[in-house]
Amino acid sequence: MVGILKDRILSIKDRISESARKSGRDPSDVILVAVTKTRTLDEILEAAHTGEISVFGENRVQEGEGKIISWPRELDVRWHLIGHLQRNKARKALDLFKCIQSVDSTRLAELINRMSEERGIPMDIFLEINTSGEASKFGFLPMEAESACLEILEKYPFLKINGLMTIGPLSNDEMLVRSSFSQLRELKEKLEISSGRRISELSMGMSGDYEWAIEEGSTMVRIGSALFGPRIYDRD
Ligand SMILES: *Cc1c(COP(=O)(O)O)cnc(C)c1O
Repeated sequence: MVGILKDRILSIKDRISESARKSGRDPSDVILVAVTKTRTLDEILEAAHTGEISVFGENRVQEGEGKIISWPRELDVRWHLIGHLQRNKARKALDLFKCIQSVDSTRLAELINRMSEERGIPMDIFLEINTSGEASKFGFLPMEAESACLEILEKYPFLKINGLMTIGPLSNDEMLVRSSFSQLRELKEKLEISSGRRISELSMGMSGDYEWAIEEGSTMVRIGSALFGPRIYDRD
């Protein structure tokens, strides 16, 4: 098995570069986040040891905790939370993660701000946007995102909104999937104008749709199965 994971990573990186170039962008503007749900610590360590991955994404605080606590200190990586955060796990999430990509309500933002203020450490967050409108998905609806963003900026100084995140619709319809991503890009541009602040990251694109996402402006693709192989228990 040695080398397979590295080959997969390198081939994904090639495709990332190609999609970036195709849309006139610098390949180094796109970060590959390795999504580690259901993966063992050994698999994740192997990915980290290739030297090709510096950001890992976990869906669940509890599952992430075991991995992050056992992580060797000398392997310098960042962990992002990408799954829905329950309020009773928020404190732990702040201890474990560098960034919470899945802030999906102003109530949750208020809680994270309060805890960050207590710790005296500002927290990096992304706002999760439900661009597909699917009821099963978390996130702000695009039409409520602007007022939520402005409210957070005004009321919660211990939060740094560094990005927007979305999960594209589960569909092979290229137009539909792309329009979800272009909506997120347009929303980012709109929020930057209305808030006067720069929002650096657009976290969009997964194993099945990351090339489209990059062509639509993604700066961060979150890839699990294309990298580690199919998940045995698919859960998110
Ligand atoms: C599981 C998951 C991913 C990765 O999905 P793959 O299709 O395995 O690449 C990305 N983002 C989120 C929020 C996820 O839950």
